[in-house]
Amino acid sequence: MKAFGYVNPTNEKDAIAALRAGGIVRPIGGGQDLLARMKDYLDQPDTLVNVKGALDAKVTALPGGGLTIGAAMKLVDLSEHPQVLKLFPAVADAAARVGSPQIRHQGTVGGNLNQRPRCWYFRQEEFVCFKKGGNRCFATDGENQYHSIFGNDGPSKIVHPSSLAVPFVAYGAMFRVVGPNGAREVPAAEYFTLPSMQTVRKENVLGDDELLTHVTLQAPGAVKSGHYEVRFKESRDWPMAFATVVLSMTGGTVGAARVVLGAVAPIPWRSPEAERALVGKPLNDATASAAAEAAVTGARALSGNAYKIQITKTAVKRAILQAAGIKAV
Ligand SMILES: Cc1cc2nc3c(=O)[nH]c(=O)nc-3n(C[C@H](O)[C@H](O)[C@H](O)COP(=O)(O)OP(=O)(O)OC[C@H]3O[C@@H](n4cnc5c(N)ncnc54)[C@H](O)[C@@H]3O)c2cc1C
Ligand code: SF4
Repeated sequence: MKAFGYVNPTNEKDAIAALRAGGIVRPIGGGQDLLARMKDYLDQPDTLVNVKGALDAKVTALPGGGLTIGAAMKLVDLSEHPQVLKLFPAVADAAARVGSPQIRHQGTVGGNLNQRPRCWYFRQEEFVCFKKGGNRCFATDGENQYHSIFGNDGPSKIVHPSSLAVPFVAYGAMFRVVGPNGAREVPAAEYFTLPSMQTVRKENVLGDDELLTHVTLQAPGAVKSGHYEVRFKESRDWPMAFATVVLSMTGGTVGAARVVLGAVAPIPWRSPEAERALVGKPLNDATASAAAEAAVTGARALSGNAYKIQITKTAVKRAILQAAGIKAV
């Protein structure tokens, strides 16, 4: 690993100043992703800025009943927080399923949302693909079994690696971003970006001199939510497909629905087709099956990942049944 400097700011302002001090500078949370990239020579910063002492690491209740989550909070703390468990169970569930206990004790919310892709070509120094400034995507005709089935007509076929991103989009979270010109609020659904030739080297709208500081979740109201991840046996690896659903009920039928898919696209992938299949319907097995079928409308498998279409349906159906409190058979 290349030698690097280390800065320990104690507030947001000093952290932003440190990011702008010159050379290649990266913020570091738990280091679970960044240190691995540095060891593999994928990223060679001159300076690391430790954000754990500079950013908020707690959950704060908002007057209207919502919550604000500090970006330096550890995943384990998020997964066990009583208010998160009560109000936003899909967030707690996603956090609880990340990797292993060691990763959850070390990884932070900000680091999880900003982790870089797991595409195996991206993770190998020798493969200089579009994402690393090269002129091709090796996954297009290569080993693409864990790649995208939606949003894959751009230059990169990655799936977004963050498990938290999906429930945050489903609950309509806002991300607070701070930079040299102050703070701005970005809807979670607009934070993550689909790859184009202009944007392929990044996965989100964050500038190099900006930090994600908080995630805000407004009071959810009387919603039912479910989160289901399809994983390889009991592995600690990333899920192969997953879904979060958030449903508002009107009497016995679904009044409004948000269905967001994970590990199937370069961004958390909202499915309006599945949402339409739910609205106005009673919550039962038949509705869940119809919504699961609708969720894969427009899916376009690559050469090695057609199996993902079926497991995406499974994830959507089981997330809906979980929200409904119906046991999957
Ligand atoms: C075996 C294994 C299994 C895993 N399984 C999963 C899984 O199922 N689901 C999942 O979601 N993840 C999974 N992960 C990834 C892991 O959860 C992330 O690497 C971890 O959450 C990153 O958090 P961190 O604080 O350690 O980030 P860091 O490594 O410190 O940072 C990650 C990136 O975010 C940037 N960054 C950090 N904090 C901020 C901030 N506040 N603002 C802006 N940028 C910031 C850093 O510069 C860096 O580029 C797995 C990892 C391993 C090794
Ligand atoms: S999918 Fe993206 S990260 Fe992977 S090889 Fe293609 S361009 Fe690179």
